[in-house]
Amino acid sequence: MAQPSAAAYSTGAPSEPVELTVSEDLLSKVTDKELLRTGGLIGGKWTQATNRATFHVHNPATGKVIATMPKMRADETLTAIAAAHAVFPTWANTTAKERGAILMRWYQEILNASDDIAAIMTAECGKPLAESKAEIAAGAASVEWFAAECRRVTGDVLETVDRSRRMLTLKQPVGVVAAITPWNFPMSMITRKVAPAIAAGCTVVLKPAEATPLTALALAELADRAGVPDGVLNVVLGDAPSIGHAMMSSETVRKIGFTGSTAVGKMLAEQAAKTVKRVSLELGGNAPFIVFNDADLELAAAGVVGSALRNSGQTCICANRVFVQDQVYDKFAELVAARVAALRVGDGAAADTTHGPLISPAGVEKVVAHVGDALAKGAKLLVGGAVPQLPEPLAGGNFYSPTVLAEATIDMRCFREETFGPLIPLFRFKEDDEAVLMANDTEYGLAAYFYTRDLRRAWTIAEQLEYGMIGLNEVAIGSEVAPFGGVKQSGLGREQGRHGLDEFLEVKYLCMGLNYS
Ligand code: ADP
Repeated sequence: MAQPSAAAYSTGAPSEPVELTVSEDLLSKVTDKELLRTGGLIGGKWTQATNRATFHVHNPATGKVIATMPKMRADETLTAIAAAHAVFPTWANTTAKERGAILMRWYQEILNASDDIAAIMTAECGKPLAESKAEIAAGAASVEWFAAECRRVTGDVLETVDRSRRMLTLKQPVGVVAAITPWNFPMSMITRKVAPAIAAGCTVVLKPAEATPLTALALAELADRAGVPDGVLNVVLGDAPSIGHAMMSSETVRKIGFTGSTAVGKMLAEQAAKTVKRVSLELGGNAPFIVFNDADLELAAAGVVGSALRNSGQTCICANRVFVQDQVYDKFAELVAARVAALRVGDGAAADTTHGPLISPAGVEKVVAHVGDALAKGAKLLVGGAVPQLPEPLAGGNFYSPTVLAEATIDMRCFREETFGPLIPLFRFKEDDEAVLMANDTEYGLAAYFYTRDLRRAWTIAEQLEYGMIGLNEVAIGSEVAPFGGVKQSGLGREQGRHGLDEFLEVKYLCMGLNYS
């Protein structure tokens, strides 16, 4: 397949034939070829862009084009919203049992296709196959959870204030939902929005990230096979600002579920205000990771490497700023450096790769800038600190070596900004209060981690950290049963767990007068 021109997007005139393709290389890695869809899904039909424009999807490990996709805009989005709207009354009227059964079939379809989805995910987002499989298991678990949880939606019968009235509440689906998702978790950011929406009786228009549409389309194909009716799940791809604006200005769309950057999230919230939509936002983080003197240092070292370098540092809950108490600082730095030195960077599809590429050249540039800034301001390089020279076909990939910096300080960019790359900066502190002050000194408030064996300290610190999620002696905090979300400028609302279903339900109050003749 041809390499993309300087502009990643080509705009075909309506009369030109449009070639929507998937590379031979990717085709050869996937057994069930029908999972490799190259169109949007609107009202149950796989669809091209009306003006036949296209965009390319790249493998970040090689820089090569792996697919050409339709570049849709507002027109197609409005058609998808209309399709979702048309089927909403019927879908909202099904029983939770019926919706749960369809979702359980989707769950099974995903599990059965997990090897193929992993190959697709690794090809478009770069993460090692083991991480892709873990994400697929987590995404499938969300679908399974909401399939069951929708059976437990209940209203209340309220104690009345006088005998002439009775008061109760009902829960009803909010309506048509827009979902906009990022590339770092091409599947699980979708399932944690789409599964509860469908479970609640809503219909959905999904816009996955331009970098990772193939996983989203495979999921949509599987949803179709599972019996999700036409129009209940629609997928549009392409021009994000145009699609987002069409979604946000539509009076039909009643809710937006977004995961992505704080800047885009704020803009969508502003746009959504004009039609007073319900808004759930999961935005950036700048997670502190605090290691106290009494911590289990081996556990904490394994934790910080697992958390900070997961998906090569490209998750919103990655440990970003590591605060280590003076007494254990040197020992901890040594343990972390030894673990990081043993990691192996390469193509996520290769069995011995522990860490894949970043999503884009811009992602690499940001890490280069943060490391350069820190070194210029006095940080000490313990491991990494370079763009690795890898052999073909990886020479065109977006790689950066996992890096550990000691003696990081709060004037460095890596303290203030989310690096979103494989960097572990170690900051030093003396007193507990100092660690909490530094940890909270950010506009973000998504996830925070700390390691201690002291019960009183555990409670105090957990209460003082201004974050939506806390890991105490633990970094694997994400789960389908637990509320995921942030405070401050990290977002609004919660995904997953029972709170994640409430986001898609309206509470309707019914007051019944009994005082008639
Ligand atoms: P990231 O920096 O992680 O790519 P973004 O916020 O840019 O984060 O992207 C997250 C999602 O938001 C993607 O699906 C992207 O296409 C979408 N997006 C980006 N810009 C806009 C926009 N102006 N309107 C609507 N969606 C957008």
